[in-house]
Amino acid sequence: MVRPATLVLAPLPPAIHPLLEQQFHCLDATSPASLASALSSPQPIRALVGHGSTQVTPALLDQLPHLEIITLCGVGYDGIDLPACRARGIRLTNTPDVLTDDVADIATALVLMTSRRLVEANRFLHQNAWPNGPFPLASALRGNTAGILGLGRIGKAIATRLTALGMTIAYHSRNPQPVPHTYHPTLLELATESDFLILACPGGPATHHLVDAQILAALGPTGTLINIARGSVVDEPALIHALETNLIHNVGLDVFENEPHLPPALIDHPRAVLLPHVGSATTETRTAMGQLCLDNLNAHFAGQPLLTPV
Ligand code: NAP
Repeated sequence: MVRPATLVLAPLPPAIHPLLEQQFHCLDATSPASLASALSSPQPIRALVGHGSTQVTPALLDQLPHLEIITLCGVGYDGIDLPACRARGIRLTNTPDVLTDDVADIATALVLMTSRRLVEANRFLHQNAWPNGPFPLASALRGNTAGILGLGRIGKAIATRLTALGMTIAYHSRNPQPVPHTYHPTLLELATESDFLILACPGGPATHHLVDAQILAALGPTGTLINIARGSVVDEPALIHALETNLIHNVGLDVFENEPHLPPALIDHPRAVLLPHVGSATTETRTAMGQLCLDNLNAHFAGQPLLTPV
């Protein structure tokens, strides 16, 4: 049987990628040069593999007239032109649920790292500064309000963790839910009421720069912004200005507007805790995500229902 030609814009995790290569004719497209060469393949490209930050533009879709399915190793699909895919009948799958706990753990870690100044404390000892005096006091979490933007799978898992830490949970999304947390009908109201504003919504045009200068001002000089959603949700220059002018207290970020490139002002800022998009980056979770991608591809080519269609 001819293995379906598959454009690989991002390889699957190491435990799964060899299995993909056994079952599919993989065309490497991880660099502009390899993409150009893959697109000139004589075999019709029927599948595409990417991750949560993969961009599939209308221009790329135009070069893939035989594409049937896009499978993403990630839950966000803001880089995919969904209307164009729908119009062409191209199917899309992602990997929800299997990564929820790991991403919520990282959001919780960022809350603890920012409130208890853990990065500074670590640096303090690496600089052997303890003999010169004690490390300055940090802030307790209990009694603080965590305002979650997007109380979906990950947002709810964050709420569970922060409740256990003694925090009060509030949230904003487009629809209120039957949960025991305070719903705020606007993000501005949520930011005003929050000590920690935690972003856990999708990226894409609908949430682009939702967190702007006005929202940061509402969060206020004792407030902390945590972002595990997408860099595009935050107006990064406005965030840098807010940090530099003490409009907000500090920030914990796992995602950035122009990954993997960060503005120097953010890299250098002492009250910015920065992580390189590691929300789901554990061997266990990435393997589960890769397996789900492979299972979705196999289901499609076997004519069976997709496991996690978008
Ligand atoms: P989900 O279950 O679909 O939850 C998304 C939530 O956002 C829903 O509660 C939704 O509620 C809300 N929402 C959607 N659009 C909104 C808008 N325009 N304004 C306000 N709220 C909005 O998704 P999930 O699995 O929790 O994942 C959430 C996001 O986390 C992903 O899309 C991805 O961008 C990000 N993520 C990051 C990492 C990482 O490594 N850092 C890993 C995985 C995922 P309503 O529909 O009621 O508005």
